[in-house]
Amino acid sequence: MRDQPHFLPRLQLQSLLDLLIAEDYQCMGPQIQSNAIVFKPFSQVTALTQGITDYQDAGHYRLQPYDSPRNFHWNCSAQLLKPYFFQAEQVLWQVEKQQDGQLVFCQTQSHQPKRAFFGVRACDIAALKLQDQHFLHSEFVDDHYAENRRNNLFIAVTCSKAGANCFCHRTSDGPAITDGYDLLLDELNEGFLLQTGSDEGERLCQQLLQTQVLEIASSEQQQQADQSLSQVRQTLFDNDDQRLQSHQSDQSQPPQFKAQQQSQQQSQQQHQQPKHLPFDPELIRQVLMQNLDHPHWQELAETCLSCGNCTSVCPTCFCSSQRDIPELDGSQAQHVRQWDSCFSQGHGYIHGYQVRGKTQLRYQQWLTHKLVNWYEQYGRSGCVGCGRCVTWCPVGIDFTQAAMQICQDNGQISGDRVRGDRVRGDRVSKDREGGHNDN
Ligand code: SF4
Ligand code: SF4
Repeated sequence: MRDQPHFLPRLQLQSLLDLLIAEDYQCMGPQIQSNAIVFKPFSQVTALTQGITDYQDAGHYRLQPYDSPRNFHWNCSAQLLKPYFFQAEQVLWQVEKQQDGQLVFCQTQSHQPKRAFFGVRACDIAALKLQDQHFLHSEFVDDHYAENRRNNLFIAVTCSKAGANCFCHRTSDGPAITDGYDLLLDELNEGFLLQTGSDEGERLCQQLLQTQVLEIASSEQQQQADQSLSQVRQTLFDNDDQRLQSHQSDQSQPPQFKAQQQSQQQSQQQHQQPKHLPFDPELIRQVLMQNLDHPHWQELAETCLSCGNCTSVCPTCFCSSQRDIPELDGSQAQHVRQWDSCFSQGHGYIHGYQVRGKTQLRYQQWLTHKLVNWYEQYGRSGCVGCGRCVTWCPVGIDFTQAAMQICQDNGQISGDRVRGDRVRGDRVSKDREGGHNDN
């Protein structure tokens, strides 16, 4: 049960929006563009996604009609917070040539409006914390990121369904949202349970109460929200069980039969199996670095296009490159930072030498940095279990399957291990009831 939640009737969502706009917030919300959900400014709730849901699988994303008035019945969009704070392209400084030939350098400042983000999920909040660790809490603070992070309001929404690529329960980042938000909404058909998570959220809540926009949530409404969250968590674990059974039956078949089945069912399996890491990220951390010669790396390299889509959509990836863009007349130049990727040629080019000339080395760099080396740098894995890299990989590579394959070949996957993790997941569930977690 939640701590005294309020209830925001669906028809009053516009009142919350109007209040934020009156306080000079630029409201950003989920909208449909090119058959995908993107986040854009909006001033009317009618602009928001409604009556749709998403279907995601490896290399697969589709929006589908959903017979409900809900605005947020989908899992994660291709991108949400990262481009607003760590911008895909940002001018860091510029230089101007004076009439006397002197060069004057000045750091550019980006002045962002106050922004309110509607629909932020547990994985988005977890990823933002990791980006903060890198850009704000490391030895050097990134001024541009810090400026972009000022004056933002997060209106989080608890996921009401589990996507086929989601595994936030395995990274302990979801599906419950326990902190990092200003307002938290649990969506029901008739409206939203609303809780506050910051002073700013509390202040806004008090204003909504004064104008009688909010009601007291009934115990039935609280129960519905709790049941919805339990159902999402249950589905995530059920998906793990199916995945494990699929692996075990595959292992018990004779090689000839396996090969035959593989050719017949490969495409079907790719689109039907849930994609998860049915084991602890700590385990992967131990196994991956000891198996850099595993043949599965080469199999991956033969499929991977080195396109970098996975790193673009990943909400925690932070690699960048920098270059100068001079005016043709030589009067000034801009020094620009752009997103880069460990899959790009240039990213591994140092002093005339390409340190990761092969796709296999680039893929290993990505996966071992994300799942192993982040522990040394930031004290945890760099993966928050959102599944975006799986959905948006054009050839449908599922890195969870790759990691699982390597662990499995080392005898590190068993039913006991999975059941042990289920207990761990239940503990996270209880932590939410207690209002905190130990991520
Ligand atoms: S894993 Fe997929 S998305 Fe990532 S670089 Fe390879 S082909 Fe592109
Ligand atoms: S590695 Fe993939 S699943 Fe993990 S946070 Fe990045 S995009 Fe999400």
